[in-house]
Amino acid sequence: MSKLISKWNYPTTVRFGAGRIKELPEVLAATGIKRPLFVTDPGLAKLPVVASTLRILDEAKVPYGVFSEVKPNPVESNLTAGIGVFKRGKHDGVIAFGGGSALDLGKLIAFQAGQVRPVWDFEDVGDWWTRANSDAIAPIIAVPTTAGTGSEVGRAGVITNEETHTKKVIFHPKLLPAIVIADPELSVGMPSFITAGTGMDALAHCLEAYCAPGYHPMADGIAVEGIRLVFENLPKAYANGKDLVARAHMMSAAAMGAAAFQKGLGAIHSLSHPIGALYDTHHGMTNAVFMPYVLAFNRDSIEERIARLAAYCGIKGGFDGFAKAVIKLRKELKVPHALPGLIKGLDMDKKRKGLIADMAVVDPTAGGNPVKLTKKAALTLLENAIAGTV
Ligand code: NAD
Repeated sequence: MSKLISKWNYPTTVRFGAGRIKELPEVLAATGIKRPLFVTDPGLAKLPVVASTLRILDEAKVPYGVFSEVKPNPVESNLTAGIGVFKRGKHDGVIAFGGGSALDLGKLIAFQAGQVRPVWDFEDVGDWWTRANSDAIAPIIAVPTTAGTGSEVGRAGVITNEETHTKKVIFHPKLLPAIVIADPELSVGMPSFITAGTGMDALAHCLEAYCAPGYHPMADGIAVEGIRLVFENLPKAYANGKDLVARAHMMSAAAMGAAAFQKGLGAIHSLSHPIGALYDTHHGMTNAVFMPYVLAFNRDSIEERIARLAAYCGIKGGFDGFAKAVIKLRKELKVPHALPGLIKGLDMDKKRKGLIADMAVVDPTAGGNPVKLTKKAALTLLENAIAGTV
């Protein structure tokens, strides 16, 4: 374990290693933050992991505020409330502490507090990010407590528009946290459902980035090692949450997924975004459900790539071997094989399925799928995932 301590400067400064949360006061000083707003979610706020982190700030006599009104798929009212607390408390930076939900909301508070346009004007579309006043963005420190989204090393925040029931990705280069503390000890308390779902999220990011068309060997290289780390360590972290080595490798794999998906994502995400927005399901778990159906759908375009990947990961049998390994991993992690296992009492009529397919094809991730995601294809994928037919 002592060897799994490091400092990286890519894609941002990352202080990696067990116990490094104690460096938080030093990190605040390095970023020039004097009155941080500590943003977390209500579940975490009650856990010892938050209490012990706040104690570090107390002992260093850092004046801070806490905001924890963060839904699992954060919504605009969470952002508005957080900005209110940020401004009233005269905060000058954010410590975003938690899983993807708290990290994204914390990042968006730091971003949006100084903007005059609505947050939706900064959706990840073309160069919309240039509309933002970048001088008004407060510095961000990110501390992940799950190992999945990689939001700590990403330049985006995801937020649900409650009016349109759509998940929107807000993008700005300065949404990239200035410093990350990636301390695997903080992830030890994750319940097994969240360990599984977040770990599969990291796998989905690496896999879709690797399969996305386009020339990006750096992203591909990061993705294949990320995938190897997930296959090797996620079952261990799931079986024994206190396995700090497995937790550490999963924290790396999560960051690698987000670094790799600058290349693109694909149909797993295009389908899981509308499902998450309409049914409030866990993002990573939803990706995990869709994974084998999308792999099979893309087969003709990715067979050779996946065979190379399988060989690197030590998985025998080329594409088929890899597809089987994904199903085996899902089973081990108790991922529902079909959508009704994830959404209790699911009863989708034709109109609802059509709506989801429509939302999937316009999702920004659809463009990264190696095979064009038409409405017909999205409908077929959805029906397969409901019936459990790979
Ligand atoms: P999450 O942040 O929603 O957390 C899930 C649950 O786990 C919460 O109840 C939380 O309290 C609990 N939890 C977190 N850490 C814990 C710990 N150490 N111990 C005990 N409980 C813990 O889950 P997530 O999967 O990390 O994030 C999902 C969110 O991230 C979604 O909103 C999704 O849209 C977003 N996302 C963002 C990006 C990005 O690039 N910014 C990428 C993927 C997903």
